[in-house]
Amino acid sequence: MPDYAVFFVFLFGITGGSFLNVCIHRLPLGESIVFPSSHCPQCHTAILWRDNIPLLGWVLLRGRCRHCRNAISPIYPLVELLAGLLAVQVVVHDGLRWENLIVILLGYALIVLSFIDFRHYILPDVITLPGMVLGVAVAWSGWLVPTLPEIRESLMGVVIGGGGLWAFGWTFQKITGKVGMGFGDVKLLGMIGAWMGWQALPFTLFFSALVGSVVGIAWMVWAGRDRSQPIPFGPYLAGAAWAYLFVGDAVYAWYLGNG
Ligand SMILES: [Zn+2]
Repeated sequence: MPDYAVFFVFLFGITGGSFLNVCIHRLPLGESIVFPSSHCPQCHTAILWRDNIPLLGWVLLRGRCRHCRNAISPIYPLVELLAGLLAVQVVVHDGLRWENLIVILLGYALIVLSFIDFRHYILPDVITLPGMVLGVAVAWSGWLVPTLPEIRESLMGVVIGGGGLWAFGWTFQKITGKVGMGFGDVKLLGMIGAWMGWQALPFTLFFSALVGSVVGIAWMVWAGRDRSQPIPFGPYLAGAAWAYLFVGDAVYAWYLGNG
């Protein structure tokens, strides 16, 4: 693929990232994601179009609002950068095809869910439920994206992913009397199963639990994190599922070859 194509995909990706920022900051507050246009979260001044250019706007303003000089969270450019890299990753891996827009859309949904969960400890139904339906629809259409599962695998993904995690959470709660897992996680795993098939579930659960535990322990040891504080699990589920799309088959082949 020519370099300029990769560059344009990156530009496309970071532009999408601007919209993801709007979703991340407004969805949890129940605000419209269409109106009003972007404004400074502190002084509420409308942001000039040139200051709103993805990535570059934040860099040129050196992370401060032009009007009130208050710091603008580095989350904004971080999300845009992630969205750009994600789009590039998809086309480098799967080629420059229109069908890949749907894979990028899935990645975008996972980014939005991760950042909202990290900050608010919720995974909004308004993303996970339509996400689940869309995943099944994409699998059902079959011809759209050959790398995604067929309909039977997708439906089993919903049932085993959503249902399995729900049963696990219910049992955990009955035994320990503690709420171990939010229902948002259940719906997210159902959505992941819908998009990637039931085969993705062992990989996703294993690596999200592994990375989540390591980060959780490190956080407690070095940053003195309070043990009773909830740990958002969504970002780990989302990250592991995304990794599965790219390395899942290779990891399973390696594991079975050594098993
Ligand atoms: Zn301001």
